[in-house]
Amino acid sequence: MMNIIELERQFTSGVYGKRAMAIVRGQGARLWDDQGNEYIDCAAGIGVANVGHSHPRVVAAVAKQAATLITCPELVYNDRRAELLARLAALLPGQLNRLFLCNSGTEAVEAAVKFARLSTGRTGVVAAMRGFHGRTLGALSATHGKAYRDAFEPLVPDFHHVPFGKIEVLVQVVDENSAAVVVEVVQGEGGVRPADAGWLKAVEEMCRRRGALLIVDEVQTGYGRTGEMFAVEHFGIAADLLCLGKAMAGGLPMGAVAIGPRVQELPVGAHGSTFGGNPLACAAALAVLDIFTEEKLVARAAEQGAYLQERLRALNLPVIREVRGLGMMVGIELRTRVMPAVLRLMEHGVVALNAGPTTLRLLPPLVISKGELDQAVAAIATVLAEETVGR
Ligand code: PLP
Repeated sequence: MMNIIELERQFTSGVYGKRAMAIVRGQGARLWDDQGNEYIDCAAGIGVANVGHSHPRVVAAVAKQAATLITCPELVYNDRRAELLARLAALLPGQLNRLFLCNSGTEAVEAAVKFARLSTGRTGVVAAMRGFHGRTLGALSATHGKAYRDAFEPLVPDFHHVPFGKIEVLVQVVDENSAAVVVEVVQGEGGVRPADAGWLKAVEEMCRRRGALLIVDEVQTGYGRTGEMFAVEHFGIAADLLCLGKAMAGGLPMGAVAIGPRVQELPVGAHGSTFGGNPLACAAALAVLDIFTEEKLVARAAEQGAYLQERLRALNLPVIREVRGLGMMVGIELRTRVMPAVLRLMEHGVVALNAGPTTLRLLPPLVISKGELDQAVAAIATVLAEETVGR
């Protein structure tokens, strides 16, 4: 039998710190490894499988489209793409009714930053400390954190970082050279930290006052994750450019930038992507939108997220410093380092994530059942009870 782990170890790039498990199948909120062990998935492929793994509707849409037309760049028009653009424009909040389609979150951020510079004729970009926006050079310039950036300096010039939540600093840094401010409304990789509502409002106001554009990065928070379709809806702020990715196409690679009226018309040739808006991803993305409506996934995420957070808070273990989050985006801040607990959880049949060195992050598929959440919480309780504070 093929030794999956050995083969990958031999031939992979080396940039990933992988756990010693080979996942070969998924269904709903369950995963199976090559040994036949079953897991409850509290990672959703890092916030991707919001509709669950291999949802039958996505599978059928992809199979049908694959047999019809897989590739079709935006040199010409396409039926699936046209339908998706119209549906997204109707669904997005405010007047975000133009879209650029791409293939990942980092590409969405790249595009948004380029559009902001093009539209304003300015270069400055202000981002938040602890923010994560991707790893390509433009997006990386917005990402904060030495571990991501240091080896790749010098990055794109004129990017500045301000504390997440401090209005006084923001007022000083956003100026008449700022093309954009880019923010996550709940920081994901940075530790599952919901933004302060007053600070977000101040960011929006500063952008308006100084003529900068507001880029909201909803790559992780979008698509029901926080209990609203888009997390900006919790805060009542209007993005000029809203970045999407991860959950858009049910697991197929896809990203998008939604563009509002403060962004000028973009000139032909200013940006592009060979695979962006391909019919296969668009067909999957349409199926995802149908699933959201039929299975009322946004309301479900709000309800299940509240339940999960309540259950976790009730654990009251010495190792838990804080449980925080929004909807089904949950962080458990520990008093110890988190990776041992993440690995132990796998032995207890739960796949979870970290967010930084001390936060256990849960991003379950939104279709997860209460019973599955209970099982996951029981495993978390067992594993965290074994953690000794101060280790
Ligand atoms: N922006 C945010 C908020 C993210 O969480 C991520 C990925 O985790 C990205 C951008 C980058 O997305 P991708 O890994 O698809 O390039």
